[in-house]
Amino acid sequence: MSFESLGLAPFLLRALAEQGYETPTPIQQQAIPLALAGHDLLAGAQTGTGKTAAFGLPLLQHLGTAPQKVSGPRKPRALVLAPTRELATQVHDSLRGYSKYLRIPSAVVYGGVGMGNQLDALRRGVDLVIACPGRLIDHIERRSIDLSGIEILVLDEADRMLDMGFLPSIKRILAKLPKQNRQTLLFSATFPESIKQLAMEFMRNPREVQVTPQNTVAETIAHRVHPVDAARKRELLLHLLGQDTRVQTLVFAKTKHGSDKLATHLEKAGIRAAAIHGNKSQSQRLRALGDFKSGKVNVLVATDIAARGIDIDQLPRVINYDLPMVAEDYVHRIGRTGRNGANGEALSLVSQDDAKLLRQIVRLLGRDMEIRDLPGFEPQVPIRWGNSAPGKAEQPGGQRPPRKPGGGRGRRPHGGGEGQAHAHAGNRAGNRGGNGRGNRAPAAATHAQQRNQQRNGGGPRRDANR
Ligand code: AMP
Repeated sequence: MSFESLGLAPFLLRALAEQGYETPTPIQQQAIPLALAGHDLLAGAQTGTGKTAAFGLPLLQHLGTAPQKVSGPRKPRALVLAPTRELATQVHDSLRGYSKYLRIPSAVVYGGVGMGNQLDALRRGVDLVIACPGRLIDHIERRSIDLSGIEILVLDEADRMLDMGFLPSIKRILAKLPKQNRQTLLFSATFPESIKQLAMEFMRNPREVQVTPQNTVAETIAHRVHPVDAARKRELLLHLLGQDTRVQTLVFAKTKHGSDKLATHLEKAGIRAAAIHGNKSQSQRLRALGDFKSGKVNVLVATDIAARGIDIDQLPRVINYDLPMVAEDYVHRIGRTGRNGANGEALSLVSQDDAKLLRQIVRLLGRDMEIRDLPGFEPQVPIRWGNSAPGKAEQPGGQRPPRKPGGGRGRRPHGGGEGQAHAHAGNRAGNRGGNGRGNRAPAAATHAQQRNQQRNGGGPRRDANR
């Protein structure tokens, strides 16, 4: 399939060819014809799938070929809402590239910087605005933007915007847009109930396209959990990275400050590392990313927000130094590795504080995760994987503590070997709504127990819930 066959205008085709785009990606193949035909769209696609062009090309074609619907002075005709400054800038840059042969005045609007440039751009008059919700509300309140002429609205990474608490802002913005004759394109990696409700409220008979099965990760990724005391995570990270310093590794940390400190710590230990997060300037971020891609640094420490929208193609290893606060972000993080059938490793350093988050992740994925103690790093404080204390009997429909090899429930493994167990999704049928008992928290079983279960026809099913 070619871009021509999707019905795109020559001015876009020329720019795409120059950028080396030859074949539309699956989300582009599905979304572009529907969007060009004027349908509302609910599109399931995550970063890296080519989603920006999937909404950007039809949007630009509309702006470039259809006259402004409302009469009077120039008003913004298209609005893209994005959760972060990084993503907004990236979308803006991409759309500028695609519309190289067509002058479409545009502005990018986000917080954390002065208002001056944004006010100037809006005053000059633009057709296209790419905005983060918070700052856009500021402009609405100052009356520096008039959204009454919006013909196309894009919600990019809608799930992320809701996770970040932007739902009230989005609703306020939606109230300022024309209700009639508006096309709405909603892109999201996941579709929690809140997104479906938003779509029902604000979209007209949306068509649905989906390129990434919901909440799934590549089959070729090995997920491993390393239990460790919180105070020893750094040491363990160094140990893991030190096993082969050539492996390009993306390390996720919770905070900006934490990722800086971690990168500095790694550098001091002789590992070439860089940090990337929202407090870094655009040029610093680009440099860090470039160095990582070229192999000048082997470890990139990133926060979730900074890592979103970053185009890193194929990575052998992702390490969750901190688990994500939102289980869905695990899917985003891990989406960086195991692409196109390549093998990948997703390692999570998990302390007692993280046990609850891990349960949520395992439940979301609906698949096993190996729990492996590393000799010398076994936590002093045994991790309670479930609500019940280790050693207690399983609660019906509740949560079970893990069983470690070589011991009873919750005991440390004996001997020097790496202890192995599996966190699993518990009641998988319940996860799928099969028996109405609801979800169960992850628990773990030893390999011997699993072998026995399998011999008896039971045991963990790795294919459930995908
Ligand atoms: P996105 O998912 O929109 O962030 O895009 C991920 C990356 O894929 C970006 O670097 C795009 O420039 C690139 N890309 C998008 N569509 C295509 C395509 N059809 N052919 C080649 N590269 C593409």
